[in-house]
Amino acid sequence: MRLSRYFLPILKETPREAEIVSHRLMLRAGMIRQQGAGSFSWLPLGKRVLDKVCQIVREEQNRAGALEILMPTIQSADLWRESGRYDDYGKEMLRIKDRHERDMLFGPTNEEMVTEIFRSYVKSYKDLPLNLYHIQWKFRDEVRPRFGVMRSREFLMKDAYSFDLDYEGAKAAYNRMFVSYLRTFTRMGLKAIPMRADTGPIGGDLSHEFIILADTGESQVFCDREFLELSVPGEDTDFANDAEIGGIVKQWTTPYAATEEMHDEAAWGALPEAERLSARGIEVGHIFHFGEKYSKPMGAKVAGPDGKDHFVSMGSYGIGPSRLIAAIIEASHDENGIIWPEAVAPFDVALINMKAGDAECDRACDELYRELSAAGHDVLYDDTDQRPGGKFASADLIGLPWQVIIGPRGVAVGEAEIKRRRSGERFTAPLAEVARRLS
Ligand code: ATP
Ligand code: MG
Ligand code: MG
Ligand code: MG
Repeated sequence: MRLSRYFLPILKETPREAEIVSHRLMLRAGMIRQQGAGSFSWLPLGKRVLDKVCQIVREEQNRAGALEILMPTIQSADLWRESGRYDDYGKEMLRIKDRHERDMLFGPTNEEMVTEIFRSYVKSYKDLPLNLYHIQWKFRDEVRPRFGVMRSREFLMKDAYSFDLDYEGAKAAYNRMFVSYLRTFTRMGLKAIPMRADTGPIGGDLSHEFIILADTGESQVFCDREFLELSVPGEDTDFANDAEIGGIVKQWTTPYAATEEMHDEAAWGALPEAERLSARGIEVGHIFHFGEKYSKPMGAKVAGPDGKDHFVSMGSYGIGPSRLIAAIIEASHDENGIIWPEAVAPFDVALINMKAGDAECDRACDELYRELSAAGHDVLYDDTDQRPGGKFASADLIGLPWQVIIGPRGVAVGEAEIKRRRSGERFTAPLAEVARRLS
């Protein structure tokens, strides 16, 4: 992509309304545009990151056996009356009327709708387990939308829903999502810690929030430092092997970890002082087993091996891709801007022409642009006539993993300067070797 043909509205000034660094940097890097309270447009650079994050989420959901669908954003109130949640949900739900005066709503989540799909088709235990997910916009009329896409009113969510014959099956489904989440966040360069979370009035021990430690987090969390050293399951993890998956969950739920609501002072106090880690955290994912909460009132049942009907045992599993992007930036930036982990970077390389219009520099850049692209790198080529200082500042701000800098002096001796954004390390390389050196 040539920057002269791209849409990258970088802001020079720090926007005053942004209280936290990720919000400031997303606005300054031209990733998002605020359209109203808690409502954002995704501009080209932001959209590329959002797509990359969603793709990782999707790959890891699929790997764990979940199937992608897509449900509507607008739902009928009648469906929510079946579960009793139309009245219970409160003011976070945006309620709408259509032209026939029918009550509708903009979905804050999809348990009812997916249960309706399930009960319409699935009648036998032989068709289980089943896990359906989608990645779709949600609306929650938050009391205090703030921190940009971290807590917005309209936001993207991946929500998965599992259906099983009994608790044992549901627990295995829960474990698969648990492990899938560990892999998902690690692939984005994040250390997410699963913490016991409140299950609300239903109770039970099966709910975990996945928390990123960050000073700007909205909740207080408590965990054992051991989590920082645990290794995350690899690509070869066998999701069909319940014992293997259960073993991983056991390992990741044994050290102490809890959010404020679930915090147990006595258990915490029993840990050696040096192991205690008390910090602020950002909730990026939440998994939940709720059994028959929806299947019973909504009549979602299957015939079991005993020939009798059983209400299915369900769970739901959410990840917020839009919030995740803010969390990634909170975890990975410096005073000059964003530092993207490679897996979610909007482009891999910033190719900087220090003297656009100079025949030799243009020729070297054009050639490199072609070569790097052919070698599989996504390149953002700064071919504009801005001054070098401005180009360097923009490149640091948008945080692509590599900068390849072409100037008259280097070109004269056939060399490019390469800078690794994360470490700031710089080196020169012959033009013909640049592609090879970017790894
Ligand atoms: P929070 O405690 O931050 O309000 P929640 O517990 O209400 O979040 P869930 O219902 O568990 O959220 O939704 C699953 C995921 O959706 C969350 O873990 C988070 O990543 C994301 N999410 C929830 N609310 C928002 C929001 N207002 N803006 C952006 N992402 C959100
Ligand atoms: Mg909430
Ligand atoms: Mg929460
Ligand atoms: Mg939650």
